[in-house]
Amino acid sequence: MSSASEHAIKAHGLYKRFKTGRTHIEVLKRVDFDALHGDVTMVMGPSGSGKSTLVAALSGLLRPDEGKVTTLGQDLWGLRAGKIDKFRLDHCGFIFQGFNLFSALTALQQVEIVLKYQGVPKREARRRAADALTEVGLEMRMHSRPAEMSGGEKQRVAIARALAKQPQLLFADEPTSALDGENGQIVIRLLQRAAKSHGAAVVCVTHDPRLEAYADRVIQIEDGLILGDQRIDRSQPPLDPQHQRHDLVEA
Ligand code: ADP
Ligand code: MG
Repeated sequence: MSSASEHAIKAHGLYKRFKTGRTHIEVLKRVDFDALHGDVTMVMGPSGSGKSTLVAALSGLLRPDEGKVTTLGQDLWGLRAGKIDKFRLDHCGFIFQGFNLFSALTALQQVEIVLKYQGVPKREARRRAADALTEVGLEMRMHSRPAEMSGGEKQRVAIARALAKQPQLLFADEPTSALDGENGQIVIRLLQRAAKSHGAAVVCVTHDPRLEAYADRVIQIEDGLILGDQRIDRSQPPLDPQHQRHDLVEA
């Protein structure tokens, strides 16, 4: 497993333009980006600022017009199309706002199916799927279908599906925006755990300011430009008088 502070993703000079009718819009304007293993890197910015486009360019879903993405030591967009798909399958987990679950499948089957795509043998796939669902607190929901689950539960199935392959890269695009505060917090804590205990590089796009509290790093994007990049030091105890006095006594 890769250690913290190692680069999982490094991107340089990304441009993406879309043509709609006769007009071109530039959605990424020379974006540089990097993310570390073990970090929750939050990309925050208003709607339309290019967040989803950036995640798509970093994860092999949408080819940028210019620039380079180095991910897990490989030149992502230099790979052949089939290799990019294989890279995503092997190393990337995705969590989206809309859950993207199959309506006919049970929670267990939703998770098993990706493992089977990866070539994991049937019994092992079942065991790992059950473990992943247990990890997100859904052991009682293994045999439920999406229609029988709440939004928060459905998102946890999507997280279990992403985590079951133990991806080194976890991309979440507005994962909490269809959820209430409490379920949003459960989801972001699970993403945080993926970074801390599995060493995944978690890249989470959001415009929800409540999630900032869970970030190791907050990158601000606006109108296709990176406007800020702040590391949040989580090694220090919170600065309240109670804590400080306690520390002094212990010392
Ligand atoms: P965000 O995720 O921050 O809301 P997006 O990356 O989805 O922003 O989109 C940024 C801008 O690019 C928006 O103005 C959007 O309309 C435009 N855009 C995104 N995808 C396409 C596309 N396939 N074709 C044309 N315009 C697009
Ligand atoms: Mg978006």
